[in-house]
Amino acid sequence: MNRKILGEQIHGHLQLYRDLGVRYVSRPAPSAQNRKPKTKNPESPPAETVIAAGETVVTAGETLEAILADIGNCRRCKLAPTRTNLVFGSGNPRASLMFVGEAPGADEDEQGLPFVGRAGRLLTLIVESIGFRREDVYICNILKCRPPNNRNPETDEIAACEGFLFRQIAAVQPGVIVALGTFGAQTLLKTTETIGKLRGRLLDYRGVKLIATYHPAYLLRSPLEKRKVWDDMRIAHNYIRALPRQ
Ligand code: SF4
Repeated sequence: MNRKILGEQIHGHLQLYRDLGVRYVSRPAPSAQNRKPKTKNPESPPAETVIAAGETVVTAGETLEAILADIGNCRRCKLAPTRTNLVFGSGNPRASLMFVGEAPGADEDEQGLPFVGRAGRLLTLIVESIGFRREDVYICNILKCRPPNNRNPETDEIAACEGFLFRQIAAVQPGVIVALGTFGAQTLLKTTETIGKLRGRLLDYRGVKLIATYHPAYLLRSPLEKRKVWDDMRIAHNYIRALPRQ
C-alpha cells in the first residue's frame, strides 16, 4: 500500500480512537485472537446436549450453516415481505468475542451483512480499539430482517426471531457476548432494565459472560457516551485475556 495512504489511514484511526476516549491500544491477546480456525470434523457425531432457552430448543454442536439453512426464506414474522436481504451474521464462527445488535438497517438490508453502514464502521473501530480485527469476532443481530424505516423491533418479531440468535450463540460458543443497545441486552438477559443500568459490569447469559453497552448508532448521535463504551470494552477484553488459551 502507498505509504502516504497508509499514513492517512493511521492518522484517521488515531483521530477516531481519540474520539472514543481511547488512551492506549492493546495488543491482541493470544488466547483470544489466535483461536484455532473452525475445524469441525464432518465425521464428528451430531449434537447431543439440549438446552432450553425460553421456549427455544438450543442444540449444542449445531453449526451456523445448519441454522442458516433452517432460517431459509423465513416468513415467521411480518418483516419478511419488506426485507431485501436476510442478514444472518458474519465473522469468525469460533470467535471468543461476539457482538449482538438490534436489527439490520438500510445498508445492511441492501448488502445482506450486519453493521456495514456508519454505525458498522464505528463498531469496527470499537473492535480494533481492544486489539481485535473485525474478522476475529462474530457479529449478528436479534432480528435478521430490517424493520421498516428502522423502527424499533416489536415484541412479536423478537419472539419469532430470537431463537435463531440463541442457536447462533450456542454454535459460536463465545467467551464474551457484547450486547449492543437496549434490545440486544434485554432480549438476552430477559430483563426490562435500561442499558444505562446494565452496562459497566459482566453479566451472565446462560453461563456465558455478557457485557451490555451502547449501540454504535446511538454513539453517532451521542458521541459523549463513547468513553463509557470504551470502559465496557476494556472489561470484556480483560476477561477474555484471562481465559485459558484454546
Ligand atoms: S425477522 Fe427473523 S423471524 Fe422475522 S422473517 Fe426475518 S428471519 Fe424470520
